[in-house]
Amino acid sequence: MAPPNPPLVPRRDEVIRRHRSSGGRLAAVLPIHYSRAVFRAHRMLPVEVWGPPGIDTSPGDAHLQSYTCGIVRSSLAFVLSGGLDVADIIVVPHGCDSLQGLGSVLLDFAKPRQPVATLYVPRGPRSASVVFLAEELRALSRRLSEISGIEPTLDELRQAIAREESADRALADLLDARPHLPFADADFYRVARAREYLPAEDFEPLARAMLAERVAAKRPGIPVVLSGLVPEPMNFLGAVADAGGVIVGDDLACLGRRRYAPGRSDDPWKHLAESLLDAPPDSTRGSSTADRLAWIEKLATDSGAKAVVFYLVKFCEPELFYLPQLRQGLEERGLKSVVIETDIAESLSHQAVTRLEALLESVS
Ligand code: SF4
Repeated sequence: MAPPNPPLVPRRDEVIRRHRSSGGRLAAVLPIHYSRAVFRAHRMLPVEVWGPPGIDTSPGDAHLQSYTCGIVRSSLAFVLSGGLDVADIIVVPHGCDSLQGLGSVLLDFAKPRQPVATLYVPRGPRSASVVFLAEELRALSRRLSEISGIEPTLDELRQAIAREESADRALADLLDARPHLPFADADFYRVARAREYLPAEDFEPLARAMLAERVAAKRPGIPVVLSGLVPEPMNFLGAVADAGGVIVGDDLACLGRRRYAPGRSDDPWKHLAESLLDAPPDSTRGSSTADRLAWIEKLATDSGAKAVVFYLVKFCEPELFYLPQLRQGLEERGLKSVVIETDIAESLSHQAVTRLEALLESVS
């Protein structure tokens, strides 16, 4: 039987245009962790910037070291070439040293036309982290007020949180159901990644429409977990399918590691901080290798994956630090893995495809 058609996903530029024409403001947000609800309480739409891939990075190269990752290089080039002019503010969470550096470049040197704000998400599980992050989110909200002219009440913030948590639940359901959803990986990721720019209330129906097509049988193919930052260039997903693989578990920073569960506190700021800090283990939040290993192993066990593909952005230090121990630990648990590094500004190399094929052949 032919697979069902995936739900139609509105294009990012259409969503931005629609939001703009209804008088809404826009925030361009860099990776990785932040609270969407804070922006929505200001009637601002957060639209994420993961590069974008495939652009000429030379406009920003003079400000960055040559070993800076493609996400930061592309983002800076995009800002400098006017690609984010539509945004009212640029927000740079301190996801890693490179993003922190980008924040400094934008604040002090390459100054874009719109204000720039940063957000520090604490690393590691410390008792002070929730209080600290709650205060960071409050400070961000005060900064947004200068642009939006809105000071959200706690009730308005709680309503925004409820909308986002409902969409987060839909995303988590999608990720859990992945082995049983009869859609090509490229279609699945197009819908799931629409969370990066669609309002929560528009994303949730798309996710639920996809979930309605769930079938009892698992998707045919060699099941793998995909780990890393972001599936760019997206034709990598086609390469997995061509090699006979199916992605059944997701440990990507843009998706599976942002599977946010609701916070516990009644205070909405602490509630938001708990939600971000309790997300699945992530290199950019300084999670331990043991926690990351246990999480990836669980993903593989729950989904029936036979191998793990680490799909990395070239020069991504936070990810590279973990790899030797992670791969050894997975091997000891009977899970083979491969590391494929790409530059999001370039197309997928033949060498990358060959490595992927070799892994899938070895576990088929
Ligand atoms: S790809 Fe890695 S180094 Fe680059 S911004 Fe993301 S986490 Fe930081």
